[in-house]
Amino acid sequence: MSIHDSKVVIIGSGFVGSSIAYATMIRGLCTELVLVDIDREKAVGEVMDLSHGLPFVPPVAIRAGGYEECAGAEIIVISAGANQESGQSRLDLVQKNSNILYSILEGIEQYEKNAILLIVTNPVDVLTTLASQHSQIPPERVIGSGTILDTARFRYILSRRNGISANSIHAYVIGEHGDSGVPLFSSASIAGSPLSLQYENTLSGCNQNWQEEITTEVRRAAYEIINRKGATYYGIGLSCAYILQSVLRDEQKVLTVSSYLKDQYGSLGTAISVPCVLGKRGINRRLQVSMNPLETELFIRSAEKLRELVQTI
Ligand code: NAD
Repeated sequence: MSIHDSKVVIIGSGFVGSSIAYATMIRGLCTELVLVDIDREKAVGEVMDLSHGLPFVPPVAIRAGGYEECAGAEIIVISAGANQESGQSRLDLVQKNSNILYSILEGIEQYEKNAILLIVTNPVDVLTTLASQHSQIPPERVIGSGTILDTARFRYILSRRNGISANSIHAYVIGEHGDSGVPLFSSASIAGSPLSLQYENTLSGCNQNWQEEITTEVRRAAYEIINRKGATYYGIGLSCAYILQSVLRDEQKVLTVSSYLKDQYGSLGTAISVPCVLGKRGINRRLQVSMNPLETELFIRSAEKLRELVQTI
């Protein structure tokens, strides 16, 4: 599919929204890129800054605008809302950001009901559930960035420990984007052979608890960054550009994103991440992953935790 006349609107042009815009622009994914923010001057400032990079990237029209710009957009990204502060979990943001989400959905729906909605604001699974239940956009078009970032972190950690490119490691994190996300060690592989085999053969001195160590590192990653620089944004910026690419170019990439669909995983009562096939219509299907009994139990617990939180809103 060509990228001719493809419009992406990003609502919330803070650290995350502007990083998504930057990555999108560098990859040449769309022809129109619009930043919307309640603080209009912030959006204008980001647009001015990004525009000065235009001589170095594929052509794209970048501007700041209001909700009327959602009309005709292929993808609308929601990255507006409060950020985690040091010591806060993603779930602590729920009330404030769900109110912001509702006001944004109202703004979007005046102009567009058929775009793909990509939710990035935290807690992303809860907000994806609310958007799927309350917006007029069909559920298969409502996507949460989910554990795409956790999966990237998992692959990066495995890559560093094994001395193998992260692109050559096949491994997924499913469940909540956050503290109960489940790295799937049992199905992780390199060159078609199970990771555990590779790992035990190639790494000298690895300790018995390597899986727990890696799980903790994946789950703690955002806290470690926020403690040092106050926010995380480059990783999610690139992750979202990858989602946008699969949708805008109809690539059918398999990505761990969050969605509220009722199919082979049953009705979980929450949006949650599993590997999904993404194309121009949004989520084409969710793939069944193989899990050992412990991973299955952790995934169910992660879904229960999210479902309980959704019910409190
Ligand atoms: P930020 O404070 O830098 O930016 C938020 C922006 O939203 C601000 O510019 C603010 O003016 C705008 N905003 C607030 N209310 C609005 C509204 N009603 N309409 C339009 N704009 C509005 O925060 P950030 O660092 O960019 O983080 C944004 C969100 O992304 C947070 O919830 C954060 O937790 C989340 N996040 C998610 C992931 C992920 O993997 N899903 C990763 C990192 C951050």
